[in-house]
Amino acid sequence: MRQIIAAIVLGLTITSVGAVDVDESTVLSTLDKAHPRLMLKDADLKRLKARCKSDPILQKCVADVIKSAKSCLKKPPLVHKKIGPRLLRVSRDCLRRTYCLALAWRWTGEKKYADKAVENLLAVCAFKDWNPSHFLDTAEMSHAVGVGYDWLYSHIDEATRKKIREGLIRNGLAVGVAAYKRYWWVKSSHNWNQVCNGGLVAGALAIADTDPKYARAIIPAAIKSLPRAIKTYGPDGAWSEGPGYWHYATRYTAYGLAAMETALGTDFGLSKITGLSEAGLFPVYTTGPTGMYLNFADSGTRARRGAMGCMFYLARKFKRPLVSDAEHDTIARRSATAEHVIWYVPPSGKKATLDLARLFRGPVPVALFRSGWDSDALFVGIKAGYNQVNHGHLDLGNFEMDALGVRWSRDLGSDNYNLPGYWDSRRDTSRRWKYYRLNSQSHSVPLINGENQSAAGRSSILKFEPARVVIDFTSAYKKASSRATRGLKLVCDRRCVLVQDEFELTGTKGAEITWAMTTDAKITIKNKTLAELTIDGKKLTARILSPAGAEFAVESAEQKPPQKSNKGVSRLLARVKDAKGSVRIAVLLAPGWKGFKPPAAMQLTPLAKW
Ligand SMILES: [Zn+2]
Repeated sequence: MRQIIAAIVLGLTITSVGAVDVDESTVLSTLDKAHPRLMLKDADLKRLKARCKSDPILQKCVADVIKSAKSCLKKPPLVHKKIGPRLLRVSRDCLRRTYCLALAWRWTGEKKYADKAVENLLAVCAFKDWNPSHFLDTAEMSHAVGVGYDWLYSHIDEATRKKIREGLIRNGLAVGVAAYKRYWWVKSSHNWNQVCNGGLVAGALAIADTDPKYARAIIPAAIKSLPRAIKTYGPDGAWSEGPGYWHYATRYTAYGLAAMETALGTDFGLSKITGLSEAGLFPVYTTGPTGMYLNFADSGTRARRGAMGCMFYLARKFKRPLVSDAEHDTIARRSATAEHVIWYVPPSGKKATLDLARLFRGPVPVALFRSGWDSDALFVGIKAGYNQVNHGHLDLGNFEMDALGVRWSRDLGSDNYNLPGYWDSRRDTSRRWKYYRLNSQSHSVPLINGENQSAAGRSSILKFEPARVVIDFTSAYKKASSRATRGLKLVCDRRCVLVQDEFELTGTKGAEITWAMTTDAKITIKNKTLAELTIDGKKLTARILSPAGAEFAVESAEQKPPQKSNKGVSRLLARVKDAKGSVRIAVLLAPGWKGFKPPAAMQLTPLAKW
């Protein structure tokens, strides 16, 4: 309702994506001129303090923030030091320090926290630049300095305020206004969009009372740019760049929208874009029972779901207790952040009903299945989508699997972003695809004649049911096959996983097809069609069910520098030699459940009939 009123006041029109067109001359007409106006106003702080007296979880969150602030007190001021082409680590450090120090001061009133925060702000405002050639660095620093200035406003004198404003304008906002006219990220639909827009929005609104021309230029431009990225959450809340970048993109969606809501009383309809309301479910369902993510795209090595304050933002905004309750489970084990306090939602006290199968559609569809939600449960996730997605790997049909508390099939994750040609990905011969972790050779996907999937490959979900999914990834194998499909099914009462691939090979010469699974397990080949995998004393057997003549083999996934070493990682391969025409490869993965004997054979059904 507040948004509608603000829209009426501002004379705005709702566009097709749900956002509104904004007039530069009226965009600031609802500006709250008081400080602090960003993210957490004094009235909200007062409410939180009152609640904290009787809420031990909020007390824990605040204690975690104050503990972080105490550790920041000991750190020397920030210095302009790049790593490769990036200043990002410094910008992020400034942001983290600013939020925890400034919140610690607002909560306790202890001057030492505010003084230390100001010391950092003055240090970065004296930098020669905020590295605009890698604009994330500029945007995150604008955000940090904007929030710091706004929150500490009453603590600092006018001369210091002026210094901070000048630094924010020179290194952040003036560069930002110019960026909207020429930078590529303005039209991008991935994490850069939300980070650059969100950071600049926060910075511009912090000084919109004294220097309104920056917010007048930046807010309307951001409102035009943000829907390009936000709409890619649609329809189910998935994020094409994987769960790791889901967090980066969603955090900044939250910062940008929250800054507008608190300073201007409206997010201009951006939160109504289809998919954002569902986004909080994506990390919940893409986390396996081991705590590790379905690790696709450039997620880090063995990436786990960490504490994410934006989960509280989403839960609050879209009234999704399932999302905030999932976050409570995480912060019970990990430190909370300032954002958890800002957007705090108490536990619902209700038991959540979570599905055993979930499909996230959108540009990169992901299907997830489990036997239950306990820590030993079977979990398997598989991805489709396209290989040119930002941070993408050549991994259509890749699957990851947990059972008995360990991860059996894993995606190795990203390599070093500073490797030469890491971002050169357009063609099959591009340098990105020379790197093992990024190409098909390291993924749990089939290979024909040892070749990578096509860099331009696309895939789609043909069928999804509670225990099965079928993916068409023909376009990734079109050099050798007129049709390529992968099915994944939970069988034996959700205790085992069947992976079945079908190809229509076009060559007259026999091809070698390799089914593969990347694993940390020690692999023992029992016979040609049976392998036993062991991790931490837990067992899993893999059995080739089709075709006759296929044989298991093992290879090492270890690589030499400068690539990451993948130490101890192996590949279980099922090789089909001299394959022609229609070929079906089926492998049954059976965890060693207590008292369970996996079947030695199974009637297979063509994927077309799944
Ligand atoms: Zn990967």
